Amino acid sequence: MKRLAISGSVLILWMMAASCAKNPVTGKSELMLMSKEQEIAMGKQSDPEIVAYFGLYEDEKMQSFINEKGKAMAAISHRKELPYEFKIVDSPVVNAFAVPGGFVYFTRGIMAHFNNEAEFAGVLGHEIGHITARHSAKQYSRAMLGQIGLVAGSVISPEFAQIADVAQTGLQLLFLKFGRDAESQSDKLGVEYSTKIGYDASEMAGFFSTLDRLSAQSGGEEVPTFLSTHPDPVDRERKVAKLAEEWRRKTGATELDVNRESYLKMIDGIVYGEDPKQGFVENNVFYHPVLKFQFAIPSSWKVQNTPQQVQMVPADGRALMMLTLAQGSSLEQAAQTTLQNYQMQAIDSKRETVNGLQAIVLIADQQAQQQQQQQQQQQAGQQGIRALMYFIQYGGNIYNLIGASSQADFNAYGQLFQSAMGTFRELTDPSKLNKKPERVRVKAVSQQGTLSQAFSSLRVDKKRMDEMAVLNGMTLNETVQRGMLIKVIE
Ligand SMILES: [Zn+2]
Repeated sequence: MKRLAISGSVLILWMMAASCAKNPVTGKSELMLMSKEQEIAMGKQSDPEIVAYFGLYEDEKMQSFINEKGKAMAAISHRKELPYEFKIVDSPVVNAFAVPGGFVYFTRGIMAHFNNEAEFAGVLGHEIGHITARHSAKQYSRAMLGQIGLVAGSVISPEFAQIADVAQTGLQLLFLKFGRDAESQSDKLGVEYSTKIGYDASEMAGFFSTLDRLSAQSGGEEVPTFLSTHPDPVDRERKVAKLAEEWRRKTGATELDVNRESYLKMIDGIVYGEDPKQGFVENNVFYHPVLKFQFAIPSSWKVQNTPQQVQMVPADGRALMMLTLAQGSSLEQAAQTTLQNYQMQAIDSKRETVNGLQAIVLIADQQAQQQQQQQQQQQAGQQGIRALMYFIQYGGNIYNLIGASSQADFNAYGQLFQSAMGTFRELTDPSKLNKKPERVRVKAVSQQGTLSQAFSSLRVDKKRMDEMAVLNGMTLNETVQRGMLIKVIE
């Protein structure tokens, strides 16, 4: 995997390219470190990284829908000339995001949570707004200036940023947060653009309350970036509702679309929540039914699973465990390449078998690349990183499990790493191999009553009724009519 490395000379080049560009939305001049060409180049560079990170959610109907609406909106936006692309990524998280140059992404999680085309169009407009008002470009310019962007958004502590592959351009951008002003401006543009392509933008206001309820449900742990910069969603909802009314008047539109039924029919069958085929965790064990392996995870560690790697961190963030596929045709070659990539040196290495599988187990220290750097580290009281690595040959692949911490912490964590990695083995349990994902199913209500009555007659688990209400953008005591479509999970 490529890692982002911005050297001093590149930074200087960027700064030379800085100029006062006219903002396409406001018409005002502002300092911009990126030209339009650079924005597009950055989008084109980030896109494959984003797609590799999440994977695409393939559904022809949905893909052609977002293309059609995206193109229509781009055409009435402030920057029609950009090479826009619209994609659905295979993530259960409820989110949408944009990168410079015209690249807009929706997760399958957010697609499952919209309840009509108008809500989708509002969010589409909001994301296109970030691009047309050049928020990412501005944000990135700021990050480049301070060179803080490289680690600022790291999900793990900065010491591990170089080991964890989060320090990539595209992904880095995802973690950059826009300010409140930028979010408000994008809300405005979202209302304007969605009204202009014929949708009722007041529906977007309602979707903010869905987001708000979702983040309350998850205990604020998985706050979508959509919400994070808006401590007051009620105020946001009110403002958007008002703007929607204004734009309805301005455009003189008499009939604006909501299109609830057609949207729900389109998403019928969409995967909901984690997809087991990408790997899943049950009782502190990670299972991968497609690659057919399993291993234990230290209890109460957090797990982040992507198509490229599984990352695990303890609550205090002082260590990191990761599983990736190693490169190389032999165990020795894989070990050597990996050590080189991480700029680490083995201090102990041996051949072993792990649950019947051929393996190399080694301990490695981070190499001090330069004396200067070493001195800086010592002055800052920092220590190099020590890692335990397992290279395991299985099913035509070589798996690399790595557990890393500071050298001082390694005594405490080494044993934990070893007892987790030593459990790597073939997955044979059919109940894990055949685990199917949950899917959204769209059903017609059989008789008038409350949403909770409708759920009962569709045999929705009582414990999940609140969750299903949020999915439908309704409350449980709201009245539903006979024949109305609602979403349930099967
Ligand atoms: Zn935003």
